[in-house]
Amino acid sequence: MKKRAILFLFIILIMNTGFGLIHAKGRKNISKEDLRLKGKTIVIDPGHGGDDRGAQGKNYGTIEKDLNLKVAQNIKKELEERTDAKVILTRETDTSLLPETKQKEELQARVKVAKDNAADLYISIHHDTFGDTKVKGIKTHYGANKRQDKKLAEIVQEAIFNQDIDTRDRGIQASDFLVLRENSSPAILIELGFMSNKSDEKRMNSEDFQVKSQKGIIDGIITYFTT
Ligand SMILES: [Zn+2]
Repeated sequence: MKKRAILFLFIILIMNTGFGLIHAKGRKNISKEDLRLKGKTIVIDPGHGGDDRGAQGKNYGTIEKDLNLKVAQNIKKELEERTDAKVILTRETDTSLLPETKQKEELQARVKVAKDNAADLYISIHHDTFGDTKVKGIKTHYGANKRQDKKLAEIVQEAIFNQDIDTRDRGIQASDFLVLRENSSPAILIELGFMSNKSDEKRMNSEDFQVKSQKGIIDGIITYFTT
């Protein structure tokens, strides 16, 4: 009986150790993947909002402002789960930053979010449209006057396509967009597909693509800060 009691205690001990290990492993998984982004502030800008709907899908009725917001919110969530960065959205709901839709002032208000928060990075999320419905793919823009942001655009674009994304890689492009030009923070604007192209529009609404592209963007952000 005594032997059985000792054996029983021994088994309990082993099980506790096992649970302890599992528990510790669980904690490790929950802990931040990359503490090196601690202290970094990242502004994510979901393009358009409120009266400004952005582009509209030709085949599935996608509204750009809504999809931009969804993607930006998902990026914020995953960034906060995987890193210690502080993540700020320029808008949290379907609204413009300013009460009236004056495009220039609205875009300047978005850039001001980066300036006011001394952002280390500014990423604007958009979906493109074009007259020729055959045109498809993903492109990352950087400020034409900000050559140092080219590297950032290259890293993020490459990281997106490392995710086995089934659309055309349109590469990076120097563009004279206000949110890039007037941004004192390193800034890029990503166009995650063409709403005017049927397959791109279907893809951009799929969870599979959203999860992959979002992971790519975040991998790119981490690479940018850590290499
Ligand atoms: Zn747009």
